[in-house]
Amino acid sequence: MINRSKALAVFSGGQDSTTCLYWALKHFDEVHTITFSYGQKHSLEIEVARKIAEKAGVDFHLVDIAPIAAIGKNSLTDAAVAMDSEKPAGCWPNTFVPGRNMFFLSIAAVYARENGIFDLVTGVSQTDFSGYPDCRDSFIRSLNVTLNLAMEEQFVIHTPLMWLDKAQTWALADRLGIFDMVRNETLTCYNGVPGEGCGHCPSCRLRNEGLEKYLSDRDFFLRSVDGIV
Ligand code: ZN
Repeated sequence: MINRSKALAVFSGGQDSTTCLYWALKHFDEVHTITFSYGQKHSLEIEVARKIAEKAGVDFHLVDIAPIAAIGKNSLTDAAVAMDSEKPAGCWPNTFVPGRNMFFLSIAAVYARENGIFDLVTGVSQTDFSGYPDCRDSFIRSLNVTLNLAMEEQFVIHTPLMWLDKAQTWALADRLGIFDMVRNETLTCYNGVPGEGCGHCPSCRLRNEGLEKYLSDRDFFLRSVDGIV
């Protein structure tokens, strides 16, 4: 019988994964986190993740996958690539790190299995503006099957944010009692500025627009995430 009381959250210290970490704490007795160093320009991200994990009282495990992530050129790990501020026509913005979630979740699954954990939690969302292919539900389901076949196990990948927009993700954080913490202490900004962020990178724009939308009709958005907490 598989122990379903433990979960491993893929954790970056950003708005989405912090919300997912606290969602996991509501749904599982024991939660662990795994954070990846993939050569991101802003290593502060890792320190922010470590601090939040400590605050949440969960185990923090850091894995360095920089050599794998460096194979695909992108503006989050390569200082020589100027960041796209808009999605270019017909291709992904260069903030897309090819294969990132595939690597993250595959490594997370191996680590989880070693620790007797078969429930993985990730903050990917299909509703995000960039529409990265490895954030889509079809990819996650496919990878879930692949991981089970690869290790002959019964993993379940949980994606509580999959169908939520950013305003609803704020509502979920509020429902989980971490609205202020997410607002002030997480790091989502592509330019490495914690809390409110730089305000102009694509990630800050998405986060801030979602926050404004949420605050404009708090009750409506809180009701919209009723079934998720
Ligand atoms: Zn920013």
